[in-house]
Formats: sequence, structure tokens, C-alpha cells
Amino acid sequence: MSQYWGKKTSYTNEELSRTKCIRCGELSSHVWGTCANGGYHIPLCENCDVSLNELILKWLVVSNWEELMEKYIRKVKNETLDTT
Ligand SMILES: [Zn+2]
Repeated sequence: MSQYWGKKTSYTNEELSRTKCIRCGELSSHVWGTCANGGYHIPLCENCDVSLNELILKWLVVSNWEELMEKYIRKVKNETLDTT
């Protein structure tokens, strides 16, 4: 059993849509990766992906994080609308 979370190889869109978010259990739609997690691909739902992006921007002390998040949320919502 792996000590890492997620999957070593990337997810196809079909796999991702059937895989639960590693954080909250909702169906996932995004993939993250961290070096400390062995470079594994981590499935996240849209809300957790948005939260993580915001967290990282704040951690990086990006002064215009709110502006960037508004732009990113618009992009994510449009992508969701395009696929329905
Ligand atoms: Zn989630």
C-alpha cells in the first residue's frame, strides 16, 4: 500500500468525474500535485480546488489575491457551464 494519496499517473476526465474529492468526498473535477506527496495526482472537487488556490495565493502573500481569485472563479464556472 502506498504511503501517498491519490494516483501516480494522471486521471482521465472520465476517471476524474467518477473519483471522489480527497478532502470532502464530493465528485472531483480538478487535479492537484505536491512534491511532498510523491508527485501523486490528487483529485479535488471544484470548491476544494478554489479554496486551495485561495489558500496558496494568501500564503504567497500575493497582494491582489482577491482580484486573481475572482478571475479564476469566473474561469472555473465558465468551464463547468461549457461541459453541461
Ligand atoms: Zn472537495
